[in-house]
Amino acid sequence: MLTFQKCENSNFAAAESSVEKEFCRIAFTSSPHNGIARLWFRCLVRNDGTETLPDQTRIVLKNIQGMLCCDKGIFVPVIRREDADWGRLGRGLRRILPDGRQQLEWTVKTPPPGGFLELAFCYPYDPEDLEKTLEETSGFWKKEEIGVTGSDRILYRLSNSCGNPDAPVAGVYLLARQHAGEVSGAWVLDGILRRLAERGTDLPVWCVPFADPDGVAQGDYGKDSFPQDMNRSWGPYAQMRNETREIAVDLRLWRRRIVPERSLVLDLHSPGADETGVYAYRPQHEQERKPAWKTELLLRSLEKALGAAAAQPFQRTSGYKPYSAWGSFSNLGEFCLNSLSVPFASLETSYFEAGGRILDRSDYRRIGGAIADVLIDFPGNGEGGV
Ligand SMILES: [Zn+2]
Repeated sequence: MLTFQKCENSNFAAAESSVEKEFCRIAFTSSPHNGIARLWFRCLVRNDGTETLPDQTRIVLKNIQGMLCCDKGIFVPVIRREDADWGRLGRGLRRILPDGRQQLEWTVKTPPPGGFLELAFCYPYDPEDLEKTLEETSGFWKKEEIGVTGSDRILYRLSNSCGNPDAPVAGVYLLARQHAGEVSGAWVLDGILRRLAERGTDLPVWCVPFADPDGVAQGDYGKDSFPQDMNRSWGPYAQMRNETREIAVDLRLWRRRIVPERSLVLDLHSPGADETGVYAYRPQHEQERKPAWKTELLLRSLEKALGAAAAQPFQRTSGYKPYSAWGSFSNLGEFCLNSLSVPFASLETSYFEAGGRILDRSDYRRIGGAIADVLIDFPGNGEGGV
């Protein structure tokens, strides 16, 4: 029998396992974990060795029509086995049921007795992956505690320089995982951190790689999570989650050490299930600022550097936001614009494809590398004075 195993960071629901005539069948769907939206899943299925099983296993991902931005079902999840690292599962066979519900199906080899298959929506990025990057960048990044989460997990911030309030320079503040399941953004951030270290940049960079460590540990998707979506917890008057409050305090420490209008807060995200490519959001009202900030020019350089991976249009404004669940509450971009007066952009990187290519972890890191190069080489970055 193939049995689903629950662990701390797993995410699946409505799990079924059966043995049909010619194949084993496992079926499940992603869980919203008390939020409003579902998309992210991660589950481990083990062969308990109690009976001889057919060679093939059919995987059924049920009710994809309820997953976020999943009209076509073209996303490509990942799989690993007891003897192999993560790799793409391939595109699923989309089946539309007579009542209109949709599911995706894949057929794979049944794991041997004692063996397993682990499935996830995209390559997981866990705290151990970050530790590996910190090790492999030979101490370039210093890791500091900046506070704790609602469940007493530590919030960490990385930096390559403390900065000096008496001699501010243009700097960068990076974040990822405000939405816990948005792992493609995390792999891009991993590439940014590696490239900045490789070039030994003196551009001062601070970074919160896991903005929602509780959500990451619990296997949450995190978009539209309860009690409040983290990226709608930045105001308008005060932060509504302890995590955003702690990060806001850190952002203010950083702001005293940088030249605000020449610096950038960059927030890494992942888009809806079926979206491809990489694109950017800028706060709607930033574009009316006079004199204009450098964000538009910097994003144009970034679009050029990304080449075919850049989705069109590349620069967008979040016009959907007033109509979303917590429409009137501020996101990080609005906090940066209205409270910090610092340029802001967020980047959305597909969970599976950019420039017509199915992405693996090194592709995500390459995208991050291209972003790091633009941050380092953009005129005026890292230089002192106003
Ligand atoms: Zn997001």
